Amino acid sequence: MHVHTLILGAGAAGLMAAAHAGPDTLVVDHARAPGEKIRISGGGRCNFTNMHTIPDRFISQNPHFAKSALSRYTQWDFIALVDAHGIAHHEKTLGQLFCDGSAKQIVQMLLTEAERAGAKIWLDTAIGAVRHDGMFHVTLTRGGRQIDVTADNLILATGGKSIPKMGATDLAYRVAAQFDLPVVTPRPGLVPFTFTDERFKPLAGTALPARVTAQGPGFTEALLFTHRGLSGPAILQASSYWPEGDAITVDLSPAAPLGDILIAAKQTEGRKGLTSVLSRHLPARLVQYLAPDWPTANLADLPDAALRDLGTALHQWQLTPTGTEGYRTAEVTLGGIDTAALNSRTMEAKTVPGLFAIGEAVDVTGWLGGYNFQWAWSSGWAAGTAIAGR
Ligand SMILES: Cc1cc2nc3c(=O)[nH]c(=O)nc-3n(C[C@H](O)[C@H](O)[C@H](O)COP(=O)(O)OP(=O)(O)OC[C@H]3O[C@@H](n4cnc5c(N)ncnc54)[C@H](O)[C@@H]3O)c2cc1C
Repeated sequence: MHVHTLILGAGAAGLMAAAHAGPDTLVVDHARAPGEKIRISGGGRCNFTNMHTIPDRFISQNPHFAKSALSRYTQWDFIALVDAHGIAHHEKTLGQLFCDGSAKQIVQMLLTEAERAGAKIWLDTAIGAVRHDGMFHVTLTRGGRQIDVTADNLILATGGKSIPKMGATDLAYRVAAQFDLPVVTPRPGLVPFTFTDERFKPLAGTALPARVTAQGPGFTEALLFTHRGLSGPAILQASSYWPEGDAITVDLSPAAPLGDILIAAKQTEGRKGLTSVLSRHLPARLVQYLAPDWPTANLADLPDAALRDLGTALHQWQLTPTGTEGYRTAEVTLGGIDTAALNSRTMEAKTVPGLFAIGEAVDVTGWLGGYNFQWAWSSGWAAGTAIAGR
């Protein structure tokens, strides 16, 4: 069997490419259902894009690579598509757009678009050997039958390694390596931190707004203590910038300057202790947890310098995680097919005409908040329209 375009992976990027690559397109996936990560994303409501999408919210060895695709197929283009399909949506926070109803609406929208474009989708299909002799040869197994498909164009859209339970594999990296495309070492991103000593167990379930910084930008969002360590959006965001073994800095009160507050309280309520004043600004369980390290004297008996130092310590809490929860729970995979090997306008491999890589398989990773889907849409569109335009 011969097709013009064969897309490996019926996830976010693969379906988007299928909607644009032209009629003679086949999408194959080993999963029983297409777009499974879309379906479970955003707590079942899919945070499908972010209104504030700009290139510097993406991590890559080449920070310029994503600019072309993101500017040619923007968040506004995807929002227009969602609107055209009558899918109601709302902004939850920080520009994050979610479906009012269900993430399944986004999957259905992409399937409708792909079908309209004439693409076929084969699910429950195992992908075997990939060869190239001017044309791509891919061995598929479907319903117990082996089928050899040849294609003029091959799009790698099998994503990263996150959540193997959902069918994630390293296929894209293996095929890339077979064609001598370099791969930036993959690692889990948007992932909770673990501490082997389980030091935060007594705080499990406690949440507060915090500013968390690893290397890179700081993120002011919720922080959640867990049995095994730290989670919550602020932590997930910082994890993507965390070099293993490094300390992170946690500002436990980004909105209120605790040193100033303590010094002011010393004037007006000097008979109070640190815990009663700080409990107004931090969760009581956290105050209890930290209090054994604090002086027990009344505020009036503590020098201003000590109060200021304590405030600083709470704004610059240094913690060194042991590790992360890994691919088991990571929302994304950092690294991937090196962008240096790809044309940023078309996503085509510079050295292998007709071979394309899109979505999470590529070394472009977005922040939490709809950015990763936007990359899947933009890169999928770039590859699809490049093929259709030839
Ligand atoms: C729990 C969770 C929630 C998320 N929520 C959001 C969110 O709200 N907003 C957001 O922007 N991002 C979110 N993400 C990230 C987002 O889902 C991904 O970045 C995005 O799906 C990547 O698209 P993709 O098409 O590159 O890969 P995927 O969507 O992962 O698709 C890859 C496809 O390839 C198939 N495949 C893989 N290996 C093989 C193989 N060997 N043979 C055959 N088929 C194969 C898979 O079955 C899958 O269908 C979330 C991720 C997770 C895990």
